[in-house]
Amino acid sequence: MPIAALYTPSVSTSPDDTAPILPPATIGIIGGGQLGRMLAMAARAMGYRIAIMDPDPDCPSASVADELIVGGYDDVAGALRLAEASAVVTYELEHVAAAVGRAVAETRPLRPSVRALEVTQDRLAERRFLEGAGAGVAPWLEVRTKAELESGAGSLGWPLRLKAAIGGYDGRSQVRLAGPPDVETAWHDLERSANAAGLLLERELDFACELSVVVARGVDGRAVPFTVGRNRHDAGILFETLVPAPPPVTAPVAARAQELAVHLAEALEVVGTLTVEMFLLPDGSLVVNELAPRVHNSGHWTIEGAATSQFEQHIRAICGVPLGDPAAHSAAAMINILGTGERRAARLEGVPDALADPGAHLHLYDKRQVFERRKMGHLTVLATTPEEALERAVRARERLAWA
Ligand code: ADP
Ligand code: MG
Repeated sequence: MPIAALYTPSVSTSPDDTAPILPPATIGIIGGGQLGRMLAMAARAMGYRIAIMDPDPDCPSASVADELIVGGYDDVAGALRLAEASAVVTYELEHVAAAVGRAVAETRPLRPSVRALEVTQDRLAERRFLEGAGAGVAPWLEVRTKAELESGAGSLGWPLRLKAAIGGYDGRSQVRLAGPPDVETAWHDLERSANAAGLLLERELDFACELSVVVARGVDGRAVPFTVGRNRHDAGILFETLVPAPPPVTAPVAARAQELAVHLAEALEVVGTLTVEMFLLPDGSLVVNELAPRVHNSGHWTIEGAATSQFEQHIRAICGVPLGDPAAHSAAAMINILGTGERRAARLEGVPDALADPGAHLHLYDKRQVFERRKMGHLTVLATTPEEALERAVRARERLAWA
């Protein structure tokens, strides 16, 4: 056999969608935040080129992109220019206008898919999808008017969460209602969202813990989950992820969570990664809180902690090449580095002190401005137990401060 034949990639016979997209092809990414940045860095390591579309020319991905198209997430003309420059297009956020997704999908493979965008950008559509797929969800109702909120609250019972169907993230555009006196302010805060696209009203669940699974599904339909992480949030923003998920997540619970995530990735027919956020209830049941058709903050530990990172895995999946080994090397803790104080130029102090622990891995997203609670970076520590990893990560973070 001629040597060259050994290196010939196994190209599918179908002309379309399953043919591998090989380096140095250009991958287009809608959204240039930290997720786009880390996707771009993984793709570049494999020899791909990167085109990004983001409204901010100084976005975190700008410095790692070969081409940057300045455009909003509803800019169809910009997205078509991105598609023109790319062999495949993906997105780092689900808040991309469906019209943008559809326009791109007519000219290039858009992965995970237009449907995944439409289902996950609308909490009401997402609930219907989850129920249709047989996944447990918190008792919920669609709310469009104040009268519907009042009667819905009566039938669901307190406490409640009221969430804008479209546009919320990191705990924004949602409110907690402890009892009837909270209806007035909740309605005041979300009335505009109610008029725009509706609201999701649901019971607040007294969960034992939160967990998430990042799963990647290839063009061949095979879905591969990463190790389950246990997450803690602070006012809606992810605070820490521990892997493997410690108690109350047991091995059988983790296995069920992975099975559920794989099932949902199949039901949604994603090509790429899907993140499934879940609550573990005290009775051992799993309830799905949210889906993201993309890499996720709770999967950042995979950069150092897994044989293949979630970013590389997403790139492999959307390019139609075989998926990597998702195995976790060891226990890991990932904690976010959030901004503090007034908006100002970002300058982090204490980096050498934080890195005095040789096992602490610092990731900064090169955001120009810092402000209270902005996601600026994260720290990952690998150790023999997740608890030890967390303790060391917290110690490293204590040495950091925004000047
Ligand atoms: P976001 O898109 O902002 O992440 P989520 O729906 O995931 O919105 O809510 C953020 C966090 O708020 C969740 O991770 C969880 O900690 C809490 N939360 C949301 N909904 C509920 C609920 N029904 N019961 C209990 N906690 C909830
Ligand atoms: Mg969430």
